[in-house]
Parts: sequence; C-alpha cells; structure tokens
Amino acid sequence: MQWYTMGVDLGSTTAKAVIVDAAGEIVASRVVQMGAVSRQAVGVAIESVLEDACLSSEDIARTISTGYGRRLVPGADKTFTEITCHARGAAALSPGVRLVIDIGGQDSKAIAVDDDGLVDRFALNDRCASGTGRFFDVLCRALEVDLDEVVDLALAGTENLEVSSMCATFAETEVISLLAQGSAPADISASVHRSVAARTLGLVAQVGKAIPAVMTGGVAQNKALVTFLSDALGQDLVILDTPQIAGALGAALIARDEYQGQLGLTVQDIETDRQLVAQRSGGLRDCTGCDGHLGDGHAHDHDGGSRRPVPVILQTDALSAAGPSPR
Ligand code: ADP
Repeated sequence: MQWYTMGVDLGSTTAKAVIVDAAGEIVASRVVQMGAVSRQAVGVAIESVLEDACLSSEDIARTISTGYGRRLVPGADKTFTEITCHARGAAALSPGVRLVIDIGGQDSKAIAVDDDGLVDRFALNDRCASGTGRFFDVLCRALEVDLDEVVDLALAGTENLEVSSMCATFAETEVISLLAQGSAPADISASVHRSVAARTLGLVAQVGKAIPAVMTGGVAQNKALVTFLSDALGQDLVILDTPQIAGALGAALIARDEYQGQLGLTVQDIETDRQLVAQRSGGLRDCTGCDGHLGDGHAHDHDGGSRRPVPVILQTDALSAAGPSPR
C-alpha cells in the first residue's frame, strides 16, 4: 500500500508544508505567507498541500513539524529543530553539501554538514534583525519599493556606500539620511546587501567555510544577496529551485525514515532541541533599539568593521550518530 509523510515548517513569516512518498520523492509542497506566526496559516498550508497531492490526512502516515513555531503545528507526531531539518532537506536537494546557509525572516544560521549529510555544528543569529529577511523589509520601507525592486536596485548599484549601522532600527534612519544626501537608491540597496553578506560571512566563519555550500530559506531567493554572498565567500553557492521548503522537506524525510523504522530514537535531537530553546534569544523582540545591549545581557559589537551579532554555537556532534544518511 502506498503511504506518505508530511513535513511542516512554521517559520516567522511563512508556513511551509511538504508531502513525500515512500521513496522520498516530493509529491506536493506549499508556502503560505503569514502576517505573524499563525495557526490559521499553518492549517491553510496543510490543507492546500493535501489538496495538491489529492490526499487526505488519513493517507499521511507520519507528520513532523519544525521551525520557529513548530510546537503550534496541529497533528504533528513529533517536532525536530530547523537545524536538523534544513540540513536534511538541503542534503536531499543538493547531495554532498557540506555547508548550509539558512536565512529566513527572523534568523540566520550557518550549518556545517558532515560526510553523511548530518549536522556537525552550527552558528545561529536570532538576536538582531541585521542579517535576516527582516532587514530587507526595513530597506523596502525606507526606499518605498517592494522586495523585487529592492533586489533589482541592488544588482544595478555601482557605488559602495558606507552603511555603518548594523541594527535594523538605525539602518532605516541611515538609509533615509543617505537618500537625503543624494545617494542613489540602487547604491544604497547594493551597499545594504553587501553589508548583510559580510555579516553572513561572519556567521559562516564560526563553523568554517566548506564546499559545496548551499543557501536555504526565503532569502536564498534574493538574487542580489546570493551574488554578494558568493563574492564575500569567494566561492559559488549552489542555487536551489525551492530553497524555502528545505526545512519542511527535511522534516518530511525524517518522518519517512522514522515510519520505516530507519531512524533510531532521537534522544540526541531532543537534547539539541532543549539546548536550542535554552540558548535561543527568543527572537528579535530582544532588540532594545540598538543600544548595544540585549535584554539577556549579551552584548552586540557595534564598533567598526567587526559589527555583527553574537552567534550562538552549539556542538551537535551527538546528532551525527542518530539515524541514517539523507538520501
Ligand atoms: P521564515 O521561515 O522565518 O518564515 P522564510 O525562510 O520563509 O522565513 O524567509 C522569509 C524571507 O525570505 C522574507 O523575509 C524575504 O526577505 C525573503 N524572500 C521570500 N521570497 C523572496 C523573493 N522572491 N525574493 C527575495 N527575497 C525573498
């Protein structure tokens, strides 16, 4: 009898759902835009993906949820961290990958992947909007253009302007001030993208550069950032057709492995999850308006060229021992 599994990734701005068949092939996928983390949006994503696949919930043997709002996903049999799921999904979409750079709406991560495509170590920035999709929203607002336009502008920019603020709260003021000084929107957009790429490079340095490297998350669809990040890294990035569903795909594939009994008890992942929750800042709400300090006492470095959020690094070696390699 044919059976299917589902992965659901409830992020900060989008809900993603993927269904795979017993062979691990994608049957259907959906990305639903949300205003904020929403149970309703995740319900829409699940219903739509079932409809696309011509399946009902009874046909789904197992569902695993992931992402920032993973505990809010109805009907999930288990939750896994987005670190584990993005690594797994990226390895399935790009076999042999060694470095995954995931930039979503509210956080960014660099994940070193081992020979078997499992998480080796990772660095996380969820303490500051800089270096996340949120930063581009701020840029759009300040330039009064939409996201597509901000990307086109960045690709057309020629001059490298000094964008000194690493904080989204101040960046908006700075962009407006650059406009008032007569700087071209294209140069401003290019310079902001370049600075985000530089900060992402800082995150990658925490886990080590590796080839091949792939970008996942919605920001991987930002062609300007991909270009500037490739330049900053000094290496090409693997471009995925569907980078935004990598986490949900990883969750669906882990669900498939579990259902087949191929994945050992994931005590290690539960421990990683505990550490992630404990060490995560709780999201961007900790931002205190760039006064250089975060609510939990961790300091941002806001000086000179080394300005970048403080990444949290968790060793997840234990995870590598759990379960089989991704396909
Ligand atoms: P989350 O999982 O936190 O909800 P996503 O991985 O869905 O985040 O990424 C959302 C971000 O992706 C948005 O903030 C936006 O900046 C970026 N994004 C989404 N689609 C595009 C696109 N077509 N072009 C450029 N950027 C995009």
